[in-house]
Amino acid sequence: MTTYDIPTSLSPSRVESFTSCPLAFRFANIEKIDDPPTIHTTRGSLVHRALELAYRHPAEARTPSLFESSIDEAIAEYHELPDLTRLHLTTDQVTAFEQQCRVLMQNYLRMEDPRAVRPIGLELRLSATVGDLTLRGIIDRLELREGELVVTDYKTGRAPSVNWELKSMSGVHFYSFLCQAVFGRLPAAIRLMYLSSGETIESTPNERSARYVATRTAAVWKAVERACVTGDFKPHPSALCASCSFQPWCPSFGGTPDLAHIEAPVAFGLTAA
Ligand code: SF4
Repeated sequence: MTTYDIPTSLSPSRVESFTSCPLAFRFANIEKIDDPPTIHTTRGSLVHRALELAYRHPAEARTPSLFESSIDEAIAEYHELPDLTRLHLTTDQVTAFEQQCRVLMQNYLRMEDPRAVRPIGLELRLSATVGDLTLRGIIDRLELREGELVVTDYKTGRAPSVNWELKSMSGVHFYSFLCQAVFGRLPAAIRLMYLSSGETIESTPNERSARYVATRTAAVWKAVERACVTGDFKPHPSALCASCSFQPWCPSFGGTPDLAHIEAPVAFGLTAA
């Protein structure tokens, strides 16, 4: 029986990863196999970077042309990064990709007036200790609105249906829990901004939602701990399998999980065969 080192920290994305599929979690977070970027993840991180660059400027400088030049700056940075180079896009595909990023930024500028935003943290790393576990998260934007904290999370994927709305808010409630632990107070609002559709989902955290985060995270961590000790990370087939890079090593698709750490880095172009 293979056992694994128990992780000492959890982030919202890790919690979601484990609850979506324990086996995919094992590959990515326990064995730390670096799965290849996708056009969606790269587009998301590039637009986040451009917004961070723009918001480093004072309110009065945040004009539409500043945001256009920020996206150009982020595109120039990404030309050198593996997030883009590992996608192996053709010149035409790169041009289309850059245009998609510009459209997302144009959509963003229709959603709020950036000059009215008072950011106090951009890509802010927060952590809090709960028992033996460290909870970590990176908040896209923390701001002050009428003296209250507001957490904003940018999304470049599609807005969720109503049924999925609660699930998609769980990551942001995680951030509000971190705010309470670090700053001693809950944010007045947590917001998800869907740049592709122009929708914003906003919710008001309360003591109950913060407690729910702590309880759920503790339960997930216990399950992670159990899986590490028993070596039993079960596959959980779902619609996500269609975009899972680890499919060739997944028993649900006839693969052998224990070969992933040897074969996947070669298949993903990270080491020579
Ligand atoms: S293919 Fe599906 S079930 Fe298998 S590891 Fe990936 S997400 Fe999990």
